[in-house]
Amino acid sequence: MTGPQIPVFDVRVEPEDLAAVELTLRSGRLREGPRTEEFERAFAEYLGCDHVVAVSSCTAALHIACVAAGIGPGDEVIVPSITFAATANAVRYCGARPVFADVRGSDGDLNVDVDSIEAAIGDRTAAVMPVHFAGYPVEIERLVALCGDRGLVVIEDAAQAVCTRVDGRAAGTFGLAGCFSFFPNKVLGVGEGGALCTNSTEVAERARRLRSWGMMAPAAATGAAPEPADVVELGFNYRFDDLRASLLTSRFARLEREVARRRELVARYRDLFAEMDGVEIGFAAQDLATSSCYLMAVLIDPDSRSGVRQRLRDAGIQTTATPPSTSSRRTSRPSGR
Ligand SMILES: *Cc1c(COP(=O)(O)O)cnc(C)c1O
Repeated sequence: MTGPQIPVFDVRVEPEDLAAVELTLRSGRLREGPRTEEFERAFAEYLGCDHVVAVSSCTAALHIACVAAGIGPGDEVIVPSITFAATANAVRYCGARPVFADVRGSDGDLNVDVDSIEAAIGDRTAAVMPVHFAGYPVEIERLVALCGDRGLVVIEDAAQAVCTRVDGRAAGTFGLAGCFSFFPNKVLGVGEGGALCTNSTEVAERARRLRSWGMMAPAAATGAAPEPADVVELGFNYRFDDLRASLLTSRFARLEREVARRRELVARYRDLFAEMDGVEIGFAAQDLATSSCYLMAVLIDPDSRSGVRQRLRDAGIQTTATPPSTSSRRTSRPSGR
């Protein structure tokens, strides 16, 4: 075996997962159906929110959340300057402009700074998209209060925050909508997949329509649909399916246990990194019980970076870096036209 002993992420598939998937395969119902609805109900109950709409990815959830929030050309949406590309991309899909707010920085806190968000609010600002980075909660209550005062929508990018809580309340449930990812490297990974949660019946209905070509829900949901369905707006094919939903429901049963283990391991890493020169522990002041502990983040000063990564590699521990160590190139249009 040549791979690292401790990879950045791995997905463990248990016998009960295989059994659940086999059952769905044998049912012959592979598209969105009862297994998807079952997961949506279970996840809504777990989050403590009214509606969950399962979709094909968190990126899709972010996009339809922006559409449902009425974001369009001319609008600005404030996003953190440290996140995954999907957050700002969702804004651009709507023709709006992402505006970057700074992160806090103190005590290794890489989450967006609410003061920096406030400073970035302008006449065109329509919404704010906070990201619970590495699974650590943003100052979401303060942010929601600020946005309430200014008449701004909050859409939470909770891709990394399945199992993150603020005063007992699930991350993703504070804003108009919260968006989650089930990509394999996330806390609850099954493959491509995501979900949008909301307490707004209007947003939920719109999201169900947008994930399915903009068709009116009843015809799209029954599947049999012998009648042509009404297409009432420009929608997408952003649907989930029962195969992945059955795997998700099976894995979901182990979520709390797995995250509890992540928290123990992060506590151990914090102790061990405390003794390493040139390394600052990410989110050092945050209580691990609030975090999904999606990533064990450390900040390394540039001169020590390759040395620290090599020491970890020697110990069989895989790492990734933000920004990547290799320089990225802009993509160009194909030539020869
Ligand atoms: C992974 C990730 C996404 C995108 O999730 P997909 O399900 O792969 O589309 C969006 N935002 C953040 C912060 C992420 O980490």
